[in-house]
Amino acid sequence: MFEPFIRANFMRFKGIYDRSPSSARNLLTSARGWFLTRIRYSPKSRQFLSELRAHENWNREEIDEFQLGALRKIIDHARKTVPYYKGYPQIHIACLQDLRLFPLLTREEFRLNQNAFLSETTPPRLRIRAGTTGTTGANLKVAYTEELARENWAFLLRQWAWAEIEEREPRVTFFGARIVPMKRTKPPYWTLNRPERQTLASIFHLSDRTAPDYLDFLEQHRGQVLEGFPSVLGMLADFALHSGRTIRMRVVFTSGEPLYPDVRAKIEQAFHARVYDSYGMTEYCGQIQECERGQMHLIPEYGFLEILDENNVPARPDEEGYFVWTGFLNRAMPLIRYRIGDRGRWLAGPHCACGRAFQRVLPTITRESDILHAIDGRLFSPRALNQLLKESNSLRFCQFVHDRPGRVVVRAVASNGNAVADMMQIRARLQELLGQKMKVTAELATAPLMRPGGKIPLIVNQVAE
Ligand SMILES: [Zn+2]
Repeated sequence: MFEPFIRANFMRFKGIYDRSPSSARNLLTSARGWFLTRIRYSPKSRQFLSELRAHENWNREEIDEFQLGALRKIIDHARKTVPYYKGYPQIHIACLQDLRLFPLLTREEFRLNQNAFLSETTPPRLRIRAGTTGTTGANLKVAYTEELARENWAFLLRQWAWAEIEEREPRVTFFGARIVPMKRTKPPYWTLNRPERQTLASIFHLSDRTAPDYLDFLEQHRGQVLEGFPSVLGMLADFALHSGRTIRMRVVFTSGEPLYPDVRAKIEQAFHARVYDSYGMTEYCGQIQECERGQMHLIPEYGFLEILDENNVPARPDEEGYFVWTGFLNRAMPLIRYRIGDRGRWLAGPHCACGRAFQRVLPTITRESDILHAIDGRLFSPRALNQLLKESNSLRFCQFVHDRPGRVVVRAVASNGNAVADMMQIRARLQELLGQKMKVTAELATAPLMRPGGKIPLIVNQVAE
């Protein structure tokens, strides 16, 4: 009950919070942490976690059987309690493939009818609302419940167990929470959540000038778990490597953005720790997590995943397509065959060495990163354009901004003196890639373009399609 209240009154609390001295902020963060901790570590959540751990022995048939039951349950619930699904076709789902008989739901359709997706069985006072950011920045408010927050946490704890991390292991967190006032110019840029033994660090105060403070801060938390957005941890790794410091952390967990291989390598080198990546979304309809053998697994209890090509035909293994999710857990706002805008592919080949029969799937593009559309129709994914940056090590950030038809700006933030040369080389390579019909320019900037929530996309598409 506390969480819906906090969310609803967020802006008011934010004002009080921003005006408080740092010791009071620690106290407020810890007070909220105490409530979250009560949700996360209740006997119910421990029970759920131990069930999840037992599911790791499932074989393929057991997984299919579970998913078929979960699909029937959520579709039945949606039809009975959610206005949007009232007229949904009355189809008996005899096998998993039967799900394809239901219509696809695009993100735009969901956005335009968002309130029609609220289940009538969840009283408004139990609804937690959270906004998500899309490529257009168009606002989408998702609803979920405390119960779901608790279940979601158990999935996170299961991945921690794969990494041999126990609950409430001390950790340092670099996600998009605004935890110190924006205008603050000296440390601390972090605040403490005591019940969770978590230190939250601001990602909005990171710069050349503040980097030494951040590295000293990490040094003080040496040996702890580190978690955050890949781009931010990559930037911290750059700072550490350039100043000749390695700071040994226990394990690194990344999520929220695609994790490119070179960024992973950099993070692992700077922090002497294994990186465990994961993919999830604010809509709470699916999850993909990396196991201890470095493979990304679809989490079968969370949601059902289809990967479809441009013609809505299931993609073959190793063929990239659109993710279409049917979530099992979010009964407050069920989404059926939700085409979220992210892409990825099934991985073929033998079972993972970890022994779990969970399918392997690789997310390739998330909606936070736009796709670059060339004039001749070619589409470039962030993963593709990331290749252009491989040999440049003097840039803190480099983004490709498609700011008007026929023009792309290479927008770089320098890290050291070779930045201009590196930037111009990237410009030349991109020009070669896109051809002479497109104009590619370059400019140095002092800070990267950031989306609300703090994510830093590689490609920023400002041209209406
Ligand atoms: Zn595995």
